[in-house]
Amino acid sequence: MKENIIYNLKQVHDRIEKACKASGRDTADVQLLLATKTVPAERIRIAIEAGENLIGENKMQEFRDKDSELKDLNIERHFIGHLQTNKVKDVLKYVSCIQSLDRLSLAEELHKQLQKENRAIAVFVQVNTSFEESKFGLSPTEVIPFIKEIRKYDTLKIKGLMTIGLLDVEKEKMRPSLHLLKEIRDQIYEAEIEGLSNLKLSMGMSQDLELAIAEGSNLVRVGTSIFGNRFLGKEIWNENIAE
Ligand SMILES: *Cc1c(COP(=O)(O)O)cnc(C)c1O
Repeated sequence: MKENIIYNLKQVHDRIEKACKASGRDTADVQLLLATKTVPAERIRIAIEAGENLIGENKMQEFRDKDSELKDLNIERHFIGHLQTNKVKDVLKYVSCIQSLDRLSLAEELHKQLQKENRAIAVFVQVNTSFEESKFGLSPTEVIPFIKEIRKYDTLKIKGLMTIGLLDVEKEKMRPSLHLLKEIRDQIYEAEIEGLSNLKLSMGMSQDLELAIAEGSNLVRVGTSIFGNRFLGKEIWNENIAE
């Protein structure tokens, strides 16, 4: 098991490196986040001890359940699932970044809680660039007004945009939803919203990380290619599912 994870990690880093080379990008501009939903703490530990330091979970409960076993390790934690407002307080115990900020009520709730705690966190605005109803995220046209609106919350540091691209067996069908995220970032820059620069793109998973890097991704979120199949009937985008 240990050998597998380490081998897989190396493969993924090789893929990232090749994709960067192919598009003339610096590997330092593409971070790897381990998507660890359903992955037991002991397996996460192997990856961290092999040199990784960034993980993402889709459910507060998974952070909580794995926390004690990972306490001695230096890990940066991001939340990448659909976050219910009533879980905000608990999630904030674990994470330094919410990558899945997808609605005003959530921004409001985060701000309220962060003010109480007198701290700020990083956020990515999640955009539904594949136009699939099953996916969370703002629709592309909502993004600029949303960002203008949440800028009043000084506890939320807007770091970039996140999307879950359209997954398909045909490569070229996956590209438009990745390209669109980059276009939305350009539109944000054109809107010249004060204080917003150097926005990162969080996109690319096991299936589409090469395409995502070609389209400008700064942060790929990879689970299956590192830890193997999750053997689930359906994906857990939503933390409400399979509780
Ligand atoms: C599970 C998940 C990933 C990783 O997906 P894989 O196909 O297992 O690499 C990335 N992002 C989010 C939001 C996820 O839920």
